[in-house]
Amino acid sequence: MARTLQTPDMDKILSLSKRRGFVFQSSEIYGGLASTWDYGPLGVELKRHVKEAWWRSVILGRDDMVGLDAAILMAPQTWVASGHVQNFTDPLVECTNCNQRFRPDHLFIYEVTQNGRFLGYASALDQEEASRRASVLLPTAPGEYRQLPIFAGTLHQLMGGSSNIPCPFCKMVGKLTDTRVFNLMFKTFMGPVEDTASVVYLRPETAQGIFVNFKNVLDSSRKKLPFGIGQIGKAFRNEITPGNFTFRTREFEQMEVEFFVKPGTDEEWLQKWRDARFQWYVDHGIRRENLRLRRHAADELAHYAKDCYDIEYRFPWGWAELEGIADRTDFDLKAHAQASGQDLSYFDEETKERYVPYVIEPSGGVDRATLAFWLDSYDEEQDKEETRVVLHLHRQLAPVTVAVLPLSRNARLAPTAQGIYQQLRRRFTTQYDDAQSIGRRYRRQDEIGTPYCVTVDFDTLDDHCVTIRDRDSMAQVRLPVAELVPVLQDKVEHGW
Ligand code: ATP
Repeated sequence: MARTLQTPDMDKILSLSKRRGFVFQSSEIYGGLASTWDYGPLGVELKRHVKEAWWRSVILGRDDMVGLDAAILMAPQTWVASGHVQNFTDPLVECTNCNQRFRPDHLFIYEVTQNGRFLGYASALDQEEASRRASVLLPTAPGEYRQLPIFAGTLHQLMGGSSNIPCPFCKMVGKLTDTRVFNLMFKTFMGPVEDTASVVYLRPETAQGIFVNFKNVLDSSRKKLPFGIGQIGKAFRNEITPGNFTFRTREFEQMEVEFFVKPGTDEEWLQKWRDARFQWYVDHGIRRENLRLRRHAADELAHYAKDCYDIEYRFPWGWAELEGIADRTDFDLKAHAQASGQDLSYFDEETKERYVPYVIEPSGGVDRATLAFWLDSYDEEQDKEETRVVLHLHRQLAPVTVAVLPLSRNARLAPTAQGIYQQLRRRFTTQYDDAQSIGRRYRRQDEIGTPYCVTVDFDTLDDHCVTIRDRDSMAQVRLPVAELVPVLQDKVEHGW
């Protein structure tokens, strides 16, 4: 049956999440902490598998990459040199009527006209809602409305008390303040004294830990350019408008690469990484039609970037960024060399030249990727009278890879089924389930995306064979228990 490309309602994912233990609200027993989430038993496995898939593809699968795990806390000079203390800001607008604050560059704004006559603006933080409000502005006769693209450079013209843009919350016109900037870095203190000398920051990106280790890695790994360093780790940003579940939070995980190249070859490497990273999402199950590349406009580029592409996913609330691939030039290495007094240049043995490498940075969010894989895999299939909820997750990402299901909870079956379970769990993320009917148990595994169920029945006791069921086609094959591990290994590697 053909699946619709439409991603499911967030409510469906939220209810599945809570019911099955993917993600919980943080500190829920105290009423929760806004936009902060904890990954439950299934969520943690899904996220771990996303990180492992990234590490395998980006670090272990390439000769030109090595890994790193830098500390979250860094010398505060790092953030001065990198430009974050001065520039890591987001624009902030407040409504003087309802006091809500928001990021104006996250607004969807429509300009509504009729026969060339301006009727007004409609705005919302959700694209569908903005377009609904735009259509309400039109009287019965047809008119036009077009979406205004807004980036940092155009914000000042659009916001402020004299503008006609309505507040996205209370919808009043003329109540928005001018755009102010707000630094996103979390500050804390190192040691017992809370004064300015002891201020340290929670890193807002993992990238700087890589730049400051460039020389250490170069000297110890004997890598030659082009080569890169990758790491996965937590980052913190005091976001003005977090939201959309785990999409935008103040504490999140990044998976980042800094790839060092000879200046002049950077444009070619930007394309290579852009294409490789796009393909990674497709290879791990996201439908190509739900992904797109968007090149940054000149006024949207970060302070360090010469060029940048975003890989965007069609989230239920509209297209939004999964990963950015930027050409950071030699900005960071030069800035750190200057601030630290250390030489961060590279001597090219072949050409006998010395230069500061350029850097290509594919920077993705673990939580966003996890959410996108999850949303894109969700399906409801009509099966006889019932609806089968199934996550068609890539077999290497599913939280549980194999479920062992004895046909019934029977004293004769249990030792054999348990023996098989103990054997499989050493190699795969495996679950054992013997509660309720086999049909119910298949449904339970489908709903969490388990690609393979192994059923142990009474014939198994005599013929030493079990049945493997494929989640997507629901096809079943019977095979000797002795072949189970290699067959499952092959299926996890290559598919059913
Ligand atoms: P956005 O424009 O959505 O704020 P960004 O361009 O500031 O994102 P980058 O600085 O490029 O993001 O960070 C790299 C990646 O880190 C993003 O593509 C995203 O996947 C992830 N990321 C950034 N901010 C957050 C956040 N607040 N919550 C979750 N993931 C985030």
